[in-house]
Amino acid sequence: MTDLVTAASAGVPQAAWLDRYTQVMMNTFGTPARVFVRGEGTQIWDADGHQYTDFLSGLAVTSLGQAHPAVLAAITAQLSTLGHVSNFFATPAQVSLAERLTGFVTANAPGTPAKVFFTNSGTEANECAFKATRLTGRTRIVAMEGSFHGRTMGALAVTSNPKYREPFAPLPGEVVFVPYGDADALAAAVDETVAAILIEPIQGENGIVDPGDEFVRAARRIASAHGALLWIDEVQTGLGRCGDWLCSASSGVTADLVTFAKGLGNGFPIGACVATGPAAGLLQPGSHGSTYAGNPVAAAAGLAVIGVIERDGLLARATAMGERLAAGIAALDAPGIVTVRGRGLLRGIVLRDEIAPAVVAGLLQAGWIANAPRPSVVRVAPPLIVSEAEIDAFVAAFAKALDAATAEAG
Ligand code: PLP
Repeated sequence: MTDLVTAASAGVPQAAWLDRYTQVMMNTFGTPARVFVRGEGTQIWDADGHQYTDFLSGLAVTSLGQAHPAVLAAITAQLSTLGHVSNFFATPAQVSLAERLTGFVTANAPGTPAKVFFTNSGTEANECAFKATRLTGRTRIVAMEGSFHGRTMGALAVTSNPKYREPFAPLPGEVVFVPYGDADALAAAVDETVAAILIEPIQGENGIVDPGDEFVRAARRIASAHGALLWIDEVQTGLGRCGDWLCSASSGVTADLVTFAKGLGNGFPIGACVATGPAAGLLQPGSHGSTYAGNPVAAAAGLAVIGVIERDGLLARATAMGERLAAGIAALDAPGIVTVRGRGLLRGIVLRDEIAPAVVAGLLQAGWIANAPRPSVVRVAPPLIVSEAEIDAFVAAFAKALDAATAEAG
């Protein structure tokens, strides 16, 4: 059967799609920069036939690039065998994926019991973790300034940005925020009333801010000293993006709660909340649920992603390509570039001036997709399959876009 959407979109220009978009889509995301119709690997085409190299992966999601044959085969095989059954029943795909994820989360303490609740997104994975913390008998959460954990009411409550939070107050309460990376401030904020400490190993939405492994270790020590849970949000950083299954793995810690999403399904919506040790027993029959949680098609996508990352050595590749990118940007020796932050293929190019949106617009015009999470930070997160040549070509394109944006800003 021909692809109905592609057939219907053939020959319809972007401007027409954008007009129709404005009529029927809620204006939550602003005006889309492009209308994309097709992708293959790192390449994406818009409705006017222009070609782009994807250095954003749909916000750190499509680690294997577009239309990866292994993911396609796994999804197709599962959907044509068994598509959905509800959580009154189990499926092999769901159990197998849970076994892989628990293995990743307990890699620093093999043998630790761990259990999974599957979700459809990152925010839902955090909702699950949040609900689990409420069942400890304590209610306070210590979260980080600059954090981002999603847009549902619970995830918003632990997200620090007032712009996202304030219009929706009152949010679930008893959340306090401390400066990210400040172990002393964290220690001062935690006592026996705290249910959990919540951290991201790297704050992606805040501009790829990396506090380092010692902060993760300090958070573990402080949580344990007060009987609080350590909850690590690996939604953006996990599953290979930073060069390991968990970005926090290099700290040596094992968290009580870990949340995943983005990179897990290569674009097929799936997330997971993994709980270890006693935390794995907090949620009991009836305390949480979701119709699609652990849908076998989504689980098959997750298994395929993990299988390809292993088969093709993409953890090591993410590290190597990330270092090549950072070295290439540093070698530009441009006065407008302050530094390159991050790990693996989650990188933030920090600019001297607040011109990141203009740089991103220039890159897009030149056929490169990136974004600006902060006015002075360009986020670069290509698929883990990115080639050396693409990294080098991006660095050259970045230099040109930066020059143009700097000149434009005067
Ligand atoms: N947590 C982190 C660290 C994120 O970066 C995001 C999304 O950017 C989320 C949670 C929310 O994930 P989702 O958009 O899938 O709900």
